[in-house]
Amino acid sequence: MERTHERIGSARASELPDVVGEQVIAGARTLVAAGLVVGTVGNVSARVGNRVRITPTRCPYDELTTDDLVTIDLDGRVVAGRHGPSREVPLHLAAYRARADVRAVVHTHSPYATAWSFLGIALEPHTEEIGYYGIGPVRTCPPADAGSHALADAAIAGLGDSKATLLGGHGVVAVGATVDEAIVVARAIEHQAQIAWLLRGAGPVPGVAERGPQR
Ligand SMILES: [Zn+2]
Repeated sequence: MERTHERIGSARASELPDVVGEQVIAGARTLVAAGLVVGTVGNVSARVGNRVRITPTRCPYDELTTDDLVTIDLDGRVVAGRHGPSREVPLHLAAYRARADVRAVVHTHSPYATAWSFLGIALEPHTEEIGYYGIGPVRTCPPADAGSHALADAAIAGLGDSKATLLGGHGVVAVGATVDEAIVVARAIEHQAQIAWLLRGAGPVPGVAERGPQR
């Protein structure tokens, strides 16, 4: 395993190791299996050096192989791949450019978190999972067109130093040092959003009602 990781660090674009591609594909399949996306919606990427491997647009995740992934540079130019990249390339690249610690990006339309994103407020209260995974504040950024640079800019502002943000009226962006971490963050955000909705339905809750949700 260690040798494999060494190979990642020294790989050229044309030799990007399958281990990262397999992580991206496993992540995409987890999104479907966990109900965080439907069909081919959502996207997963991982950064290796100055290259990014990202899921292609409109390809069923259960049929993907590493050859179907698209490799792009940090300016969004396609370096390798037989499909077009996800249309959220600007969002993914903005995260990698803004944060050296971000090595994987996941975008979902998971239902509870997406519903919350229409409220235009931060996701509160913070539960143990949010602290346990060191996610940080989960702000909701203003709405912008899918795939646009405006959406990418809004997402980076919303993300700040956190591991997740909600895209207003749209969905979730989760980041991590690995695809696995970004997936865990995306799942934790959905879990948290479900709790937030349950609390809303419950009416005032002692110890919670006075704290938030906060704008
Ligand atoms: Zn989306």
